[in-house]
Amino acid sequence: MKAIQVKQPGGPEVLELVDVPVPEPKANEAVVKLAASGVNFIDVYQREGRYKVPLPFVLGQEGAGVVTTVGSNVTSLKAGDRVAWTGLLGGYAEYAAVPADRLVAIPAGVTDQQAAAAMLQGMTAHYLCHDTYPLKRGETALVHAAAGGVGLLLVQMAHNIGARVLATVSTEEKAKLAREAGADEIILYTKSDFEAETRRLTNGQGVHVVYDSVGKTTFEKGLNVLRPRGMMVLFGGSSGAVPPFDLIALSQKGSLYVTRPTLVNYIASREELMSRSGAVFAMISSGKLKLRIAHTYPLAEAQRAHRDLEGRKTTGKLLLLP
Ligand code: NDP
Repeated sequence: MKAIQVKQPGGPEVLELVDVPVPEPKANEAVVKLAASGVNFIDVYQREGRYKVPLPFVLGQEGAGVVTTVGSNVTSLKAGDRVAWTGLLGGYAEYAAVPADRLVAIPAGVTDQQAAAAMLQGMTAHYLCHDTYPLKRGETALVHAAAGGVGLLLVQMAHNIGARVLATVSTEEKAKLAREAGADEIILYTKSDFEAETRRLTNGQGVHVVYDSVGKTTFEKGLNVLRPRGMMVLFGGSSGAVPPFDLIALSQKGSLYVTRPTLVNYIASREELMSRSGAVFAMISSGKLKLRIAHTYPLAEAQRAHRDLEGRKTTGKLLLLP
């Protein structure tokens, strides 16, 4: 089968299309023939070596498709079942062997591509606004990179909760998408100072929560736009890692909270994986959550997908179609 392998860390050019054997399932695994593989920013960090992975490895943290074979201990699944997963390497491939307890069934109202697009970014948006900082109706949130993969989903969920959403984006095209997703106010953070704009838009009050996936270029100013006892939810570093930080600033800026959450801890148990994926799938099939699958690429063009994602050229979800 074809797969995209990383043999040494580096730029997009290290993504190599290789021929490897179709995996055999271990006793607790199912082999899935992939219909779609999600591309996510974590793939960039792992490709670069910012997040260390033993070499060589097949990249990709998310996929959806059909079960072809199951291991001897697997009773919950059978060949032909439509399934999806996230949080395990090996998605950029035609087939992947996945532990059965990490697979979720794709409901009838959700396509394979939608499932591949929703597992990582959809469940992330869900835990951020329901669990990390449970947003309430009437509260105000600042969402950075609001037209991105997680961004567009988080804006919709926050809007559906009834929160006021301030959204940062880099271009007018992205502004339009964020507005359509339900953002109340748009800030072009490449043209204006988002700190001053957020203060102006909140009459100097600040926001209850900042959802920050951009990191290096936004973190410090984000602390300045929080209300006393507000929460900084730093969940990524698309512009680079946030440098070491003196905790006394949290006291000086208003008894603030900072957290650095990651999806694995919010889907660690089978129960939480099932309830969170079920909630996201229900939002999709009921039409409450719109997925924007704006960019699809053949598996062989993974390099181009990475260049587009890192180059800030994309909006919504990127999928590889093996
Ligand atoms: P996005 O689609 O959001 O792409 C990244 C976006 O970040 C860009 O489109 C761009 O939007 C913005 N950005 C700002 N500065 C830069 C820069 N210097 N270089 C590149 N992009 C920049 O990606 P994802 O939705 O896949 O992921 C978003 C972030 O969320 C990532 O940091 C990722 O690691 C993190 N994440 C964290 C999870 C967790 O559980 N902790 C889970 C999922 C994702 P614009 O042009 O509008 O500025």
